[in-house]
Amino acid sequence: MEQPSVTTGQKTKQPENLDVLASTQTVIKQALNKLGYPEPVYELLKEPLRMLTVRIPVRMDDGSVKIFTGYRAQHNDAVGPTKGGVRFHPDVTASEVKALSIWMSLKAGIVDLPYGGGKGGIVCDPRTMSFRELERLSRGYVRAISQIVGPSKDIPAPDIFTNSQIMAWMLDEYSSIREFDSPGFITGKPLVLGGSRGRETATAKGVTLMIREAAKKRGIDLKGARVIVQGFGNAGSYLSKFMHDAGAKVIAISDMHGALYNPDGLDIDYLLDRRDSHGSVTNLFEDRITNREMLELECDILVPAAVENQITADNAHNIRANIVVEAANGPTTLEATKILVERGILLVPDVLASAGGVTVSYFEWVQNNQGYYWPEEEVEQKLEETMVQAFENVYQTAQSRGVDMRLAAYMVGVRKMAEASRFRGWV
Ligand code: GLU
Repeated sequence: MEQPSVTTGQKTKQPENLDVLASTQTVIKQALNKLGYPEPVYELLKEPLRMLTVRIPVRMDDGSVKIFTGYRAQHNDAVGPTKGGVRFHPDVTASEVKALSIWMSLKAGIVDLPYGGGKGGIVCDPRTMSFRELERLSRGYVRAISQIVGPSKDIPAPDIFTNSQIMAWMLDEYSSIREFDSPGFITGKPLVLGGSRGRETATAKGVTLMIREAAKKRGIDLKGARVIVQGFGNAGSYLSKFMHDAGAKVIAISDMHGALYNPDGLDIDYLLDRRDSHGSVTNLFEDRITNREMLELECDILVPAAVENQITADNAHNIRANIVVEAANGPTTLEATKILVERGILLVPDVLASAGGVTVSYFEWVQNNQGYYWPEEEVEQKLEETMVQAFENVYQTAQSRGVDMRLAAYMVGVRKMAEASRFRGWV
């Protein structure tokens, strides 16, 4: 989309490009160049192999019919079946889903899973829909995409505004279409339907481990460290709890209504309890600050755990953190990444920091395939080994190649699918 230019006194400055697909393509290209791959590899990996757009008719509770648009992108299946969540959100676009599928491929490469990346999305606002309307939408989506998904083809999972109940409906719909029970079709399921212990908290656990490793590199003691978490959804709320329990001071949290700040540390257990009773939390308090004000507060560790494009060229100069760990997908633009890195801030990128979710999804799928279920300690121990190894790989690549952590993560993440595509004779 063409963007208007902004006049800033002497020279005309183009506004920052917030297109997440274009940004990820830029970094993929840089990573492949650094690794010495020829142009056709970039041509193959810059877009998903497949992208399905579907229209889903849903009977609403008032008797009317509403038609929703959904997507499923499969980025690259050279390594194995594609894997990634399904997002329910009013702002979902085809281009965003494509970028998210590429990020899933990178995550799988970074934590070394036998998967490529996939992603789905439905343009809807689940906060305005009833339980039964959501069930009909979830089932309709699976009917619409059933031909291209499956336990050894493409395996969905939760993402923004989707949860284990939605996974259960999707599993049930898929099993009735295929006429056999196939728990490996989807991950993030309730435990009683073949979910894995530890999946619910996996993304936050993974981020916690990445904060621990980054803090070690910076010589920061987590006890008493000041942490800010943007977003109080699955990742942000569990992460706040884990950081609080580890003795860190969570000085600010936020949700879509605004942010709460206390320099002495917030009472996270109380806020979680309020959120569970009311559905949202910051709107219950008068003395809120804005999300933007919160991001610019002084702290040791800043964790964007909400949506895309939160740290941009506009506010990156004002970020006063020692470490930024991206729990959300795409919260920092490329221009902002450059500014943060130049200012000496250690940035742990999304494709590494948030890979704990898909790692435990993989464990869930393995358990489904084996029909043998692991205790929580085993899941957690394997998650820790995987994430710590991935952090070290990316950190060492950044050091040895003299690049920032985002480019290093892309270099680590892209290599396996580039090699697999080459062995298959695709490029
Ligand atoms: N939606 C999550 C992500 O963005 C998890 C995907 C999965 O478990 O497959 O990483």
